[in-house]
Amino acid sequence: NLEVGIVGLPNVGKSTLFNAITKAGAEAANYPFCTIEPNVGIVDVPDQRLQVLHEMYNSKKTTPAAFRFVDIAGLVKGASQGEGLGNKFLEHIRQVDAVAQVVRCFEDGDITHVEGSIDPIRDIEIINTELCLADMEVLERRMQKLVKLAKAGVKEAKAEQAVLEKIKAALDEGRTVRSVDLTEDELALIKEMNFLTMKPTLYVANVGEDEVATADAENPYVQKVKEYAATEGAEVVAISARVESEIAELDEDEAKEFLHEMGLEQSGLEKLIHAAFDLLGLMTFLTAGPDECRAWTIVKGTVAPKAAGKIHSDIERGFIRAEIVSFDDLVAAGSTAAAREKGQVRLEGKDYVMQDGDVTYFRFNV
Ligand code: GDP
Repeated sequence: NLEVGIVGLPNVGKSTLFNAITKAGAEAANYPFCTIEPNVGIVDVPDQRLQVLHEMYNSKKTTPAAFRFVDIAGLVKGASQGEGLGNKFLEHIRQVDAVAQVVRCFEDGDITHVEGSIDPIRDIEIINTELCLADMEVLERRMQKLVKLAKAGVKEAKAEQAVLEKIKAALDEGRTVRSVDLTEDELALIKEMNFLTMKPTLYVANVGEDEVATADAENPYVQKVKEYAATEGAEVVAISARVESEIAELDEDEAKEFLHEMGLEQSGLEKLIHAAFDLLGLMTFLTAGPDECRAWTIVKGTVAPKAAGKIHSDIERGFIRAEIVSFDDLVAAGSTAAAREKGQVRLEGKDYVMQDGDVTYFRFNV
């Protein structure tokens, strides 16, 4: 189950955003085997295709894909030196698959900024510096070990040392590990290190509640964050945490109405979920039938039997073939039977790489 950690300086709007996430939260009933800790929020991944399938199959229920956010509070200047919750906080980050860094881009005289002024780039750099320092510590420990291994004649040690030297040079300049150009082989050598600044990252620009519709194009702080993010190849999502927490209080129809009035197509939370989905290289395949229509999350490039394993390990083990029709073909044809007549229902084998929107029926041996 993939997890995105929410980080940021104090008072930038993390808790407000996290509250919106938990309030908008997914049906706990869908996840009976998850114990949910207070700092974990599970959200549904909005997918309009499910509604279409639901109508086509007259299914009893629909189950969207889900996504976990973890609120990682406590990062302050000096965290890598043990300030605040320090190391405990950093260990939390080590466990997540991706990071959403919240940066304050809203003006509000009533809410103090820990650094005294609104300056998102300075804030990002404070956070990234702490993460770089933590990575440096891990790196230096590994370097010392490698010296011993190299002396003992372990051949692989040399190659790893070379990669770590490259990374050290970047960290010395305060650059993140993800900004270092590394080959596949080099990446494989350092995978175990689990560097914090290697995590896929997106920036959440928290803007004022009166500018949600315009901030993405007009708010000058947001533009700066975008410029900064571009240098790392990172994405930026502009939202207003306060507005999101208000939307999360509404029922579905009220929320639609509210968004419409504000001139928005989707909520900030939906934007964030989709951005996180992309960041993690995820995609969705669908299963449909009278009992349930459901979206399943897999990493892009997953082959059919592995995808089947998401549903049940027995289906992966006994995999024979996948019957697949793309969502668009299915909708155009109007029914599975019609799609079958048009030859659009394909039989795919164990090497088939799943595509986003594949409506799938797995055949398997028990
Ligand atoms: P955290 O310390 O990062 O978790 O920040 P909080 O979520 O507690 O937010 C700090 C303060 O900023 C709170 O008083 C929030 O109500 C306020 N805040 C958060 N988002 C917004 C926003 O979009 N606009 C305004 N004006 N205030 C916000």
